[in-house]
Amino acid sequence: MLQEYLAAQRATLLGIAARLVAHESPSGDKARCDALVTLLAERFAALGTVERHANPAGGDHVLVRVAAPGTPAGAPPALVLCHYDTVWPAGTVATRPFHVEGDTAYGPGLYDMKASIAMAELALRAVAALGLSLARPVILLITSDEEIGSPSSRALIEATATGCAHTLVLEPPIEPAGALKTARKGIGMFTIAISGRAAHAGVEPEKGASAITELAHQILALNALADPAQGTTINVGLVRGGSGRNVVPAEALMEVDVRAWTSAEAARLEGAIRSLAPVTPGVSLAVAGGFNRPPLERTPAGAALFAQAQALGATLGLALHEGASGGGSDGNFTAALGVPTLDGLGAPGAGAHAAHEQISVSGALQRAALLALLLTRL
Ligand SMILES: [Zn+2]
Repeated sequence: MLQEYLAAQRATLLGIAARLVAHESPSGDKARCDALVTLLAERFAALGTVERHANPAGGDHVLVRVAAPGTPAGAPPALVLCHYDTVWPAGTVATRPFHVEGDTAYGPGLYDMKASIAMAELALRAVAALGLSLARPVILLITSDEEIGSPSSRALIEATATGCAHTLVLEPPIEPAGALKTARKGIGMFTIAISGRAAHAGVEPEKGASAITELAHQILALNALADPAQGTTINVGLVRGGSGRNVVPAEALMEVDVRAWTSAEAARLEGAIRSLAPVTPGVSLAVAGGFNRPPLERTPAGAALFAQAQALGATLGLALHEGASGGGSDGNFTAALGVPTLDGLGAPGAGAHAAHEQISVSGALQRAALLALLLTRL
């Protein structure tokens, strides 16, 4: 029933998606983001109680509470997580507008993840239109800053997830099979600033202390912290330093990306990086940063949630697979609170953060049916 209803919603899905894409929403662009928030608040007003959570540093966040009549008072809700910000600067849509070719729809931010917002709306509408009952209240949270690490929304996400039964994250699945995600790496971002002492490289180099030589030592020390067998990675992704060829460099700096599957590994890395010690006499290190997202560890409860979704998906003819991602999402925050979290429930497609970003329209409608089924059964 759900599948037939949603399969007939192709034009509606594309209409919503076209409007969401046309409202460009680069992270941090408050005026543009807030204009989209106004549209979202209007669209979801018929489905639940809409709260607009102010964010002075960027777009506001949208929270929709959908009641589940007939369920016991105080039943823990299901949390559905989306974000409306995109990595695309304003003006991208003019050069690459929303369009549809056959079963494929294209547009900046469509796959990651404006199609997901349209799917959430359609799923909730389907439940109401078909007279189905939600298994528990639903909280739909649509945030404005996932693509920049969720600096403003993190506290709201954590406060909202606390007390929820589970979290369903509508990030894109893992292609090519469209696998759902029960694990994601935690992500650490560190900046290491090195201070040495400048001197003339020809006249009195012995009076200097090279920050760049020290940088080289520290890069190798950092690389040695990786553990490929455990999937723990270190990437020194940016370096800079020095002031000229003939000057012993007084300053150098690097930015480091570290990732790990488990909180134990994250703690090991964080401790090791914070205790890095200079090897060059006269040089000092200053380490800033830390783990921005904790690992989304595969837990028995998370695996059980996937198994339930897989069984429900099978009733719709969907063969759902389980996967893991080296990238992070807001699901990392909810999982770290102990809330079972299933990620990758967005539309099948391709090209996240890339110019060929696209979704399968029929796939999005199937996944909207799956979401509606999860909300009525889990
Ligand atoms: Zn995303």
